[in-house]
Amino acid sequence: MEMNIEAIVKQVLAEMQGTAASAPAPAAPAASSGEIPKTAHVAVLTSLEHFEVKEYPMPEVGDDDILVKVEGCGVCGTDAHEFRKDPFGLIPVALGHEGTGEIVKMGKNVKVDTAGKPVKLGDKIVTCMIFKDDPEITMFDLNKKNVGGADVYGLLPDDDVHLNGWFSDYILIRGGSFGSTFFNVSDLDLDSRILIEPCAVLVHAVERAKTTGILRFNSRVVVQGCGPIGLICIAVLRTMGIANICAVDGEAKRLDFAKEMGATCTVNFKDYKGIESLAEAVKTALGGHAADFAFQCTGSPAAHSNIYKFIRNGGGLCELGFFINGGDATINPHFDLCSKEITLVGSWVYTLRDYATTFDFLRSAKRIGLPMSKLITHRFPLEEINEALKTNLAMTGLKIAIVNK
Ligand SMILES: [Zn+2]
Repeated sequence: MEMNIEAIVKQVLAEMQGTAASAPAPAAPAASSGEIPKTAHVAVLTSLEHFEVKEYPMPEVGDDDILVKVEGCGVCGTDAHEFRKDPFGLIPVALGHEGTGEIVKMGKNVKVDTAGKPVKLGDKIVTCMIFKDDPEITMFDLNKKNVGGADVYGLLPDDDVHLNGWFSDYILIRGGSFGSTFFNVSDLDLDSRILIEPCAVLVHAVERAKTTGILRFNSRVVVQGCGPIGLICIAVLRTMGIANICAVDGEAKRLDFAKEMGATCTVNFKDYKGIESLAEAVKTALGGHAADFAFQCTGSPAAHSNIYKFIRNGGGLCELGFFINGGDATINPHFDLCSKEITLVGSWVYTLRDYATTFDFLRSAKRIGLPMSKLITHRFPLEEINEALKTNLAMTGLKIAIVNK
């Protein structure tokens, strides 16, 4: 994925050359009653592992543009990657793409969001990395399709507007050739809005799992790995009414959280020696049955090799743990796959349709009382963005977020 993202961003940037922002035509944009300051603050990555919060004049809002007062933004693995290595060669750059905020000013041509839902001043919005011309495409297709039109706020090169990333107090969502997909999500609370992107990854994975026809209302399911991805996987399954979920991890604290999120039973793999005894423990936890379906949510090749042993003959598996290259995994194709007739699907990122479905998932999760907010373990003000990124790299928390006052 690292390679893919890099190639994608480079291609997007290459396509954009020559289409750099011309000054937006001054219009008579609608403005909120709240006062808009004359300057905005943007965290700019000026060198490796170093953000500077810079002050820029508030830009003009063109007829197709939206000025958003930023409330918060999640820190993504991509941000951490850029912070540490600048693989896309973007420095100086304003990062942050998992952001959300309130519309404080907008051009006269802005009437509806990407889904056709009306937008007005005061509405809360998010942007999406996926282009709108085909809702079924995924990030995987972006190098073919997501060029020359949509832009990814938080991975744009710096220009004369400067307000290009969500690690800021204001962001200008530009229309025209910069037209991004954006959604009115005013009915979601701030934490839910910050969690949209990681949740979309799981909505997509469960949609992939459903294509096997094996995942059903009363399925017995194993979720292996209880980091953010596994925990959200459990949440998505719970909102679908799947109640028989066994969480597998090596950390008691994570397994406790998995239970809070709705796992019915947990197995700590550190308590067992060898895959046979571990598989037996999972079976016992599931009431004496091997799993109908399993989700592999760790980036460990050994975990991929093991998970087949938890699944019944004719069962299904969704592998989604390898967001980036984690190395090779060994399986025995005869015993693990063929003789058991396992149906295996892989999952990576999400489509635009999954992104919109995620809003419904988050509403359902809230309705049934899942502790989604607890996934955000660290909240930093914008001034402490370097600290936030370092906390993300230390991998001691779950979701790290910048939250503005
Ligand atoms: Zn992200």
